[in-house]
Amino acid sequence: MAQSVVQVRAMWEDVTGTPLRADHRAAFLRRPEAAALAALPRVVIELAASTTVARCGELRLSTWLDAAVVQRATAPPLRIELVPSTCWWSNLRSELPAEQWAVCKRWSSQRASRRCEICGECGPRWPVECHERWQYLDGDRPRMQRLVGLISLCPACHQATHMGFASVSGHLDQAMAHLGAVNGWSPEQCAAHLADSQSVWECRSRHEWTLDVDWLVHALGIDVVVKRPAALS
Ligand SMILES: [Zn+2]
Repeated sequence: MAQSVVQVRAMWEDVTGTPLRADHRAAFLRRPEAAALAALPRVVIELAASTTVARCGELRLSTWLDAAVVQRATAPPLRIELVPSTCWWSNLRSELPAEQWAVCKRWSSQRASRRCEICGECGPRWPVECHERWQYLDGDRPRMQRLVGLISLCPACHQATHMGFASVSGHLDQAMAHLGAVNGWSPEQCAAHLADSQSVWECRSRHEWTLDVDWLVHALGIDVVVKRPAALS
């Protein structure tokens, strides 16, 4: 989500480890680049700040803004992630024993300090939900649906990633509005991304996928028995 110019200034001081002098603090707030940064999603300018400091060793407002604009254009922070209809075993919550799912949720929320890892916000009734990140390897045979991580998302961001479910549950407009707000996208850009996601979903849903959840073993020490049968090559 967008933030205030004061929050942008605090981020600059935090990332650079350099408290500004009083006169420079006031001047910072008047800079047009600071206002432009404030209008961008927090996750975008945070990533742009850290990559710019790593690359340049300093954080000028102009180079920070340039990096943030590129970051937003090339890697939108919030994406629709439609799970193929042929992936029968794609929901860890329903398949893991309750105690193992509890370990996943606890690990994810603690790592994220109970804040959304995309927009930095929290939900009104509970702060975050655990979201599975999948990779679909269709160059391999059999095709592989691989778990590559768990992240914490606020309910609004989580709903937007599962746009298909948002649609059938009557929350499509709300989820699309959130997608646009987080990514700084127009309604037309959101619609284009949804169409792209649906096209990818239709392609993937024509195939069977073998499930790979070894990530749970390596990252969390959870040993899981996969229930979905291996896909035929
Ligand atoms: Zn969020």
